[in-house]
This record gives sequence, structure tokens and C-alpha cells, in this order.
Amino acid sequence: MEKISISTKGNNDIIDITSQVKKVVKKANTKEGVCLVFSSGSTCGLTMIENESGLVRDFKNFLYKLVPVEGDYEHNKIDDNGHAHLLSSLFRPSLSLPVINGDLVLGQWQQIVFIDFDNRPRKREIIVLVK
Ligand code: ZN
Repeated sequence: MEKISISTKGNNDIIDITSQVKKVVKKANTKEGVCLVFSSGSTCGLTMIENESGLVRDFKNFLYKLVPVEGDYEHNKIDDNGHAHLLSSLFRPSLSLPVINGDLVLGQWQQIVFIDFDNRPRKREIIVLVK
């Protein structure tokens, strides 16, 4: 198990962690297995997307339309990030990816990204487990 530490800007900041996850997988030296990527936190998520600047902008617009920041959220009576918790609930806190011949199996345009939905910069830790 290894941890990847990242700093985010919040507000749907999207961070490509593919190369860091691949590094952990190589080091694990597992011929065939599964790589679990997990982020704890109720205002963030993991997904896979092509990390192309236009598509990243499209994705951020899509998130904003899906759950606008300035919506009328009950949670905002005690906190100010109701939208971030709602977006987080739509994504998985973890991804399971196949490892074959000691490497991650990914499509050419398939990157692993961490998204911080919270409304402020955060320090985040992502657990990578290869078995
Ligand atoms: Zn909250």
C-alpha cells in the first residue's frame, strides 16, 4: 500500500494521478492482480476521463450544470459545501483496475483523475493498493 499526497485548489479541481498510480503498480511487481485506488473524504471523487483541456472544461461545465454551487441546499445551514457532498455522492470513492504483466491496463485516452468538489483548497491523500 502506498499513499499519494496531493494539494488541490478545490472547486472541481481535476488532478491527473495516472503516472503516480502506475509508479506504485510497477513497484508492487504483481504479475496479475487488481489495483485499488481509494480517496477518503465526502467532498471528492475519482473517475476516468481523457485529460484533454477542452474535455476537462466540458467536464467542469457538466458538473456545474448537474449541481450548481449556488443551489439552495439544506446542508448549507451548517456548512457551505452542500453541492460538493452531492457531487461526491455521484462518484465512487474508489476505482478497481486490472493489473496484467505488472502494469495497469488502461485505454490510450483513459486517465485516472481525482476531483475535488469542495469550495476551498485541500490537502488530500489517495490510497493505492495492489494485490
Ligand atoms: Zn459539508
